[in-house]
Amino acid sequence: MSVFSHPAYDNHEEVAFYHDAKSGLKAIIAVHNTNLGPALGGCRMWPYADDAEALNDVLRLSRGMTYKSAMSGLKLGGGKSVIIGDPRKQKTPELLHAMGDFLNTLGGRYITAEDSGTSVADMKIIGERSEFVSGVIAGQEHGGDPSPSTAYGVFVGLKAAAQHRWGREDLNGMKVSIQGVGNVGFRLAKLLKEAGAELFVTDIFQENIDRAVNELGATAVGADEIFDLDVDMFAPCALGAILNDKTIERLKVGAIAGAANNQLAEERHAQVLKERGILYTPDYVINAGGIIDVYYQQVGQAKGEYDAGQVKSHIETIATTMHEVFERAEESGETTAHIADRVAEERFGHEDALNNSDSAAA
Ligand code: NAD
Repeated sequence: MSVFSHPAYDNHEEVAFYHDAKSGLKAIIAVHNTNLGPALGGCRMWPYADDAEALNDVLRLSRGMTYKSAMSGLKLGGGKSVIIGDPRKQKTPELLHAMGDFLNTLGGRYITAEDSGTSVADMKIIGERSEFVSGVIAGQEHGGDPSPSTAYGVFVGLKAAAQHRWGREDLNGMKVSIQGVGNVGFRLAKLLKEAGAELFVTDIFQENIDRAVNELGATAVGADEIFDLDVDMFAPCALGAILNDKTIERLKVGAIAGAANNQLAEERHAQVLKERGILYTPDYVINAGGIIDVYYQQVGQAKGEYDAGQVKSHIETIATTMHEVFERAEESGETTAHIADRVAEERFGHEDALNNSDSAAA
């Protein structure tokens, strides 16, 4: 298993491996870039098939966090951690405490938060050992869970996409399909319903579908049927890699705006979408509401403060960033995904962007 020559290595500043024999903890922390501040990113616990799969995941996710935070105007770098193990069977307080010890070895260069397989409650346990934990602010309605903020950011970004694509100021009567009505997707559906949109939803859990149908009057569709619907917009809120050679040719939508990470199976699919006239809203720009929330939790933690109004205003800047990306893509003829990467690189001072005076000045 190579590290420095790994395809996803991309100039990571630090990759740390940790093993605690007593608790069974096996974990990796990847710090991609700290030009703008300490690296903040969630801690994922997953039964990876092997160490190589865990390394690949942590490297890809940590790089993504650098781009996401830079794009959101946060004084944060990008990092991520993974715990190798089944969260339903192997997660114990001892293991989480050992994760806290691991965090301490980086002395604050990396700050963790909840992710797939870890919860607010787990972060509280890690926080008994380490101060380098966010996403656990006390006394808040959401208890530190960033999902409501992620959903609000997606809603804001989706409205910006509708405005750019159709010159629409509201979503009244717009048909929107949502893949995955879980923590983020259901909350997004609620916001869209309130804005007058017509909803089409799918999920792999019937109870999640039933909730959207019964509470929001959504129309249920099959898991595969979601790609064939004649609707205005598609909001992927479940899995990555769902925009691929098989699905894109079936889509009849005018724009895609959703929460899922890594929606494009490969970079080239951004070009395929563009050629089909589908406006793609880059995932890490539109789903940044959560990291924005976690950032304010982190900076407010020491003072015991959390200003929900400030968080909301910051999340609303996603619309401004989206418009910048859409307009630059239109002017240059490049894809929105490519432009988003360029803007982020300019912001965090990526070598390629600094060496290119045109883009650095733009
Ligand atoms: P979640 O697990 O609560 O919801 C995902 C939903 O998708 C679940 O209801 C699940 O049953 C459904 N699903 C899974 N596979 C499906 C399939 N093939 N077809 C249809 N539905 C399927 O997760 P979440 O927190 O709502 O996150 C959704 C997505 O957004 C994920 O990709 C996540 O990485 C991303 N994201 C979440 C946040 C956050 O704050 N929670 C932040 C940024 C990005």
